[in-house]
Amino acid sequence: MDRGTIVMGAGLAGLSSAYLLSRSGRNVVVIEADPAVGGLSKTIVWGEFRFDLGGHRFLTKNREVEEFVKEILDREFLIVHRKSKIYMYKRFFDYPLRVSNAIFGLGLATTIKAISDYTKERIKAFCIPSDGLSLEDWVVSNFGRTLFNIYFKDYSEKVWGIECRRISQEWVAQRIRGLSLGKAIKNAIFRFTGKDIATLADTFIYPPNGIGEISERLREAIERRDRIFTETRIERLHHRDSVIRSVTTNNCNHREDIEGSHFISSIPLTELVRILDPPPPDEIMDAVSRLRYRDLVIVTIMINRERITDLTWLYLPEKDMPIGRIHEPKNWSERMAPEGKTHLVCEYFCFKGDEIWNKDDEELVSNTILQLERINLINRNEVVDACVLRIPKAYPLFEVGYNEPYERVMEYLSNFKNLHVIGRGGRFRYYNMDHAIESGIEAAKKVMDS
Ligand SMILES: Cc1cc2nc3c(=O)[nH]c(=O)nc-3n(C[C@H](O)[C@H](O)[C@H](O)COP(=O)(O)OP(=O)(O)OC[C@H]3O[C@@H](n4cnc5c(N)ncnc54)[C@H](O)[C@@H]3O)c2cc1C
Repeated sequence: MDRGTIVMGAGLAGLSSAYLLSRSGRNVVVIEADPAVGGLSKTIVWGEFRFDLGGHRFLTKNREVEEFVKEILDREFLIVHRKSKIYMYKRFFDYPLRVSNAIFGLGLATTIKAISDYTKERIKAFCIPSDGLSLEDWVVSNFGRTLFNIYFKDYSEKVWGIECRRISQEWVAQRIRGLSLGKAIKNAIFRFTGKDIATLADTFIYPPNGIGEISERLREAIERRDRIFTETRIERLHHRDSVIRSVTTNNCNHREDIEGSHFISSIPLTELVRILDPPPPDEIMDAVSRLRYRDLVIVTIMINRERITDLTWLYLPEKDMPIGRIHEPKNWSERMAPEGKTHLVCEYFCFKGDEIWNKDDEELVSNTILQLERINLINRNEVVDACVLRIPKAYPLFEVGYNEPYERVMEYLSNFKNLHVIGRGGRFRYYNMDHAIESGIEAAKKVMDS
């Protein structure tokens, strides 16, 4: 029996597609491997505490997506002021960089070197346009080598787990496009709102109960008419004559074939290719094996104190500090922790199977407490609880040279007439929530137009 559109994955991308299709009266079935909906944008409820998988701010330049989210939230959301810092050299620096401490806080000699390096790079870029491919090339050309070494090198290598000269500049261009030292300085001096520079925005939208509220509302709306199967993994995607026919799902070892007329996939691109039945040619399997994701371990420490910081995020770039980033959910919404208590969500960027990923939970918790004490944020006597989560495929990894195998895989998939590939892991793009939602909306429109 044809069940209409089969949506693979109930993250924001898949849920957005399913919501629009369901609202327009089309039959839709959503299949999600996890027990909860929301994917990377879910909110964990842990006793009286709530936290996102790394703080998720909602921000967009797309009016349609902004309206979509505001409508889903019934216009009940908070406007949060961003206040972030970088901890290095045993000091807290403002983030985004402010000229006052980012440049002049470094001491006169380093400041002069930073400015002369920057000037040299700008003149060089003016005379010989850069054909650099890596993150290192891009940042050095836009900020100079001194600032690259101080502010970008260690943090980027911590996030990505590979050297900056192996990270494709496409990522940094997507991530901090429009940002250069000149603009950062202009922003610092004139206190622009940063609306034209994605990474510098001063305020953002946040649902009172955590970012997962967007997905929960979408879920409620979809389930008024259609089905979402959670704890159900898609194991096979069957095709014939360039048309996808059905999926094989597995729920607690109960396998079922579900037929559909359209298939919208937000599951990781590499997984999608590997579950195709019959399998793709060897050259596609080879191309997909060259695409990698970066994984994440999150350790949340619950603390018997009203507040620890007044920050949205705290970035920890230094190599001898294993935590990459921290956020205190109570600074995003008061409802995230009970009165008199708070929690710190600590992100460790890693690869599945590496030393961090494989550490047992107890060791991760005790090491996190130790590190938080080391930077004077907490005292171990205040800790009341802890939670460890492992999140595979949190970030697509843009290694220099990824583009060629990527294009080959996408071209192959475009041969399937009724397959729509959406979302961050699905399209292997550095998508934020707004892009994920946008891709879901686009796929739903295509199905409705067909
Ligand atoms: C630490 C961190 C912080 C972030 N912060 C921000 C932020 O501040 N602002 C912002 O806008 N964005 C942020 N993002 C990005 C944001 O999380 C993503 O853009 C968004 O959640 C992607 O949604 P998606 O639906 O495309 O993918 P996902 O959320 O990955 O959804 C894919 C779904 O598919 C399911 N799935 C996978 N395989 C199968 C299978 N075989 N069968 C069935 N289901 C399957 C998964 O369980 C998952 O639920 C952040 C991401 C991370 C990792």
